[in-house]
Amino acid sequence: MAFGEFDLIDNYFTHRWPQRDDVVLGVGDDGAVLALPQGAELVVATDTMVSGVHFDEQTPARAIAHKVAAVNLSDLAAMGAEPAWLSLALTLPEADQDWLNGFSHGLKEICDYYGCQLIGGDTTKGPLTVTVTAHGFVPAGTALRRDGAKPGDWLFVSGCIGDAGLALAVQQQRTTISDAHYRRVLERLYFPSPRVALGQNLREIASSAIDISDGLVADLKHILKASNVGARVDVDELPLSLAMTESVAADAAIDYALSSGDDYELCFTVPESRRGVFDTVLAHHPAKPICIGRITNEANTLTLLRNDEPWFSQREREGYDHFS
Ligand SMILES: [Mg+2]
Repeated sequence: MAFGEFDLIDNYFTHRWPQRDDVVLGVGDDGAVLALPQGAELVVATDTMVSGVHFDEQTPARAIAHKVAAVNLSDLAAMGAEPAWLSLALTLPEADQDWLNGFSHGLKEICDYYGCQLIGGDTTKGPLTVTVTAHGFVPAGTALRRDGAKPGDWLFVSGCIGDAGLALAVQQQRTTISDAHYRRVLERLYFPSPRVALGQNLREIASSAIDISDGLVADLKHILKASNVGARVDVDELPLSLAMTESVAADAAIDYALSSGDDYELCFTVPESRRGVFDTVLAHHPAKPICIGRITNEANTLTLLRNDEPWFSQREREGYDHFS
């Protein structure tokens, strides 16, 4: 059910936005018409964010827009896809001009940065809910998947993890940290950077990949299950930010890195035979992925080690099981 006052949304979401040559027909008709490159396969991802579930009232509209686009682009990155088009479904309680300004600004920024065009959408009155569908492409047969990891492959993460979870813990008053560090980790919670360029560079190098949305352990588990393998992770190798290491004790930092989500780094595996090519590609790449362990042949078994001794998270020490 679209309604009158939302006609103005057209103005917010089309004027001076990126235009791509492969959009034959964009916003304004019943459907978009899009031209796929020769020999490409289409990769499609959708994510919804609901007020009160995925973000709270204090979250700026600009951050909501950035994040809902970023989580979709992160899924495309995990598939090795080059992003191209976004569509938007927006449910709003009211047509608040300030909110719409902030939201459209945030969405335009990320579209500009990644060269994506908004190709359509829908607006409805109701409780605040934002859904984005991202479309991208890969050369046929080269998409990164979760099911290709093999025993002996090296396991990597693309950057520091745990920061968004630390920001959330501060927001929910479960811990306190300095204002300077809070600003840094809040930036990671509100404005995650999907590893779009790295994902494309990993095509034909990585044997499997996933983006870290729910926490390293939870998401790595998806690779282990799909590939029918296990993994050994050295928790001392987990990349941690300065904001993290200066704010919490060493064990707590490892717990954040293992268990909290929302950082949108990539977790991926590289076969020994591709390690040389991988190191060469990375030498010219701004991202600095860190090797955190290796894939094993013990199906669905994740072993956490510290100084070669088994390591258990706080939750496990309290009786929770990561695999329950
Ligand atoms: Mg994902």
